[in-house]
Amino acid sequence: MTKPATTPPRTAPAVARTPEELDRLRANLGRVALVPTMGALHSGHRSLIAAARDHADTVVVSIFVNPLQFGPNEDYDRYPRTLDDDLAICAEDGVDVVFAPPVEVMYPGEQMVTVSPGRMGRVLEGEFRPGFFEGVLTVVNKLFNLVRPDVAIFGQKDAQQLSVVRRMVRDLCMPITVMGAPTVRDADGLATSSRNVYLSPEERTTALALSRALLSGADASVTGPVGILSAARAVLDEAALATPPVAVDYLALVDAHTFGEVPNDFRGEAVLAVAAWVGKTRLIDNVPLTL
Ligand code: AMP
Repeated sequence: MTKPATTPPRTAPAVARTPEELDRLRANLGRVALVPTMGALHSGHRSLIAAARDHADTVVVSIFVNPLQFGPNEDYDRYPRTLDDDLAICAEDGVDVVFAPPVEVMYPGEQMVTVSPGRMGRVLEGEFRPGFFEGVLTVVNKLFNLVRPDVAIFGQKDAQQLSVVRRMVRDLCMPITVMGAPTVRDADGLATSSRNVYLSPEERTTALALSRALLSGADASVTGPVGILSAARAVLDEAALATPPVAVDYLALVDAHTFGEVPNDFRGEAVLAVAAWVGKTRLIDNVPLTL
């Protein structure tokens, strides 16, 4: 008789809510990889956790919905908070430590000193979400100082964030290796995101235009920047007439390192990036291209 397959028992991660608790867990951690998240964990986060496990002895996942990176009319209050489910996923994925501080621990008083992203933080996401990257870099800096990781893993899904964090680490001489992990998509092409739960079935169908537009742009890559942008734009223009419609904040082809728009004779690593609204949900997506 064959033995039924058994799943090895998983140990629940240690949970730290304060820097002191984190410090107590820090002894003998070996090489530490940090995966910063805002929780509501999905397959995208899980791919980052898997990458972290390949590069360190200890995997720390931080779960913190960072008020500093939300604008006054954004979704901070309704952002999904699912800590129990997140802890179960972390246990299943072999995460060693979850750092889930309350807001008062991360922001005990007025945050007077913040980290400026410079001009990279003023374009695309930075233009449509003023203060967003300052909020992101400030909290990432705090998390780096509290967790003191050797490696930190960020998703290519938020390509501009990944580049801005890389730049902060380089420009501020932080002793941390930043690693990017590819975007995880559902079978229909939609990039997985904690915000996808906001979408109705009809909105979700419309939202597929984002990944379709990027694919169309990528297919036109031999035609250069103008051809790429017009192929992607054609898909979005059509989706603007759908019910419900897509409303585009930006579609841009930028240098992957500076996030400046590329000239037509550009050669090198680029990112075709889109941000758009479907109903009350704002979605972003991108595809890396070598021109
Ligand atoms: P968030 O919880 O949305 O702040 O995301 C935490 C990290 O997960 C960030 O580095 C994101 O870029 C990454 N991430 C989110 N969605 C995906 C995805 N679909 N594929 C890969 N990484 C992702």
